[in-house]
Amino acid sequence: MHDVIIIGAGPAGLAAAFWCDELGLDTLVLEQNDKVGGQLLSIYNPIHNYLGRRADDGVEMADYFAAGIIEAEFDLWTNATIETVDLKARRIKLASGEELQSICVIIASGVRRRQLNIPGESQFVGRGMIESGARDAQLFAGKDVCVVGGGDAAAENALLLAEVCPTVTLVHRRKTLRARQEFLDQMQTKHCITVFKEAQVLRILGDERVEAVEILRAGAIKPFQMAVGGVLVRIGVEPNSELFAEQVKVDDQRYIEVDSSQETSIENVFACGDVCSPLAPTISGAVGAGATAAKVIAARLGGGKR
Ligand code: NDP
Repeated sequence: MHDVIIIGAGPAGLAAAFWCDELGLDTLVLEQNDKVGGQLLSIYNPIHNYLGRRADDGVEMADYFAAGIIEAEFDLWTNATIETVDLKARRIKLASGEELQSICVIIASGVRRRQLNIPGESQFVGRGMIESGARDAQLFAGKDVCVVGGGDAAAENALLLAEVCPTVTLVHRRKTLRARQEFLDQMQTKHCITVFKEAQVLRILGDERVEAVEILRAGAIKPFQMAVGGVLVRIGVEPNSELFAEQVKVDDQRYIEVDSSQETSIENVFACGDVCSPLAPTISGAVGAGATAAKVIAARLGGGKR
């Protein structure tokens, strides 16, 4: 029986673990990846908005967090896939067979990029699907590309690709983009960027690699095909809450609802980080929420066992 089991080792989970350890709680962190960092590991842009520390990319920031916990005494299990969880009983079964129990649970499972779920999208991963404009632009230099989405991430990636690609077609499902004005202004000055509004990508086509996208524009009866050598999808994120959503209260987007102590609708079950922050997902917020959950738990358990 642990005092606390923390699910996820991104900034929120690591901060919670750091603080639980600091406060003398017997703590186990479960991370399904083979390393810590969570979403940081797929940020390829410089991070300059985390107070006190800048990083060239998310991996550098993850290394910084990992260095910060090197002397901590909590247990960290990587490659730990949860098979089932009973939050009321705070009992967790791993795919590897271990059964675990704790007095409190902190869910810090983060979010993942939303997918279009269209034919070709997963088939062409690594063969024409662009993971990141910041990381992969040079690989697609000289190729016509398509970007799907209408927010900051789609606009920012379209701008990065426009530096090296002859044409960038941004496809967005609505009449207006929700990307910030600064990005929209910059897009106006890039003549190689074309925006198809009220349009959907229906399929990604190709043989060995991406060769074309099939697009349906509003009002058109039939879709048309456009030749492209790369496709980047940035249509927002969704919470990793499937394991918990039938047990705790979630909102209509399945983000976990918490109170000001980061506690969920189940007593002694807490959540922190992006999985419960639909409005303000930040590294700073995740770290702060992790610390809050740990402090509340330590006060409730009377300081932990150690
Ligand atoms: P957003 O949620 O801001 O935007 C997602 C976009 O994708 C919306 O335009 C949405 O359309 C569209 N979309 C959603 N689902 C689908 C679908 N199934 N099919 C087609 N289109 C869809 O997400 P982002 O990924 O752009 O950004 C995530 C967060 O990261 C935001 O907070 C953003 O501000 C931040 N960010 C900040 C940056 C920076 O500061 N430099 C850079 C990049 C991101 P609709 O408008 O119709 O809902």
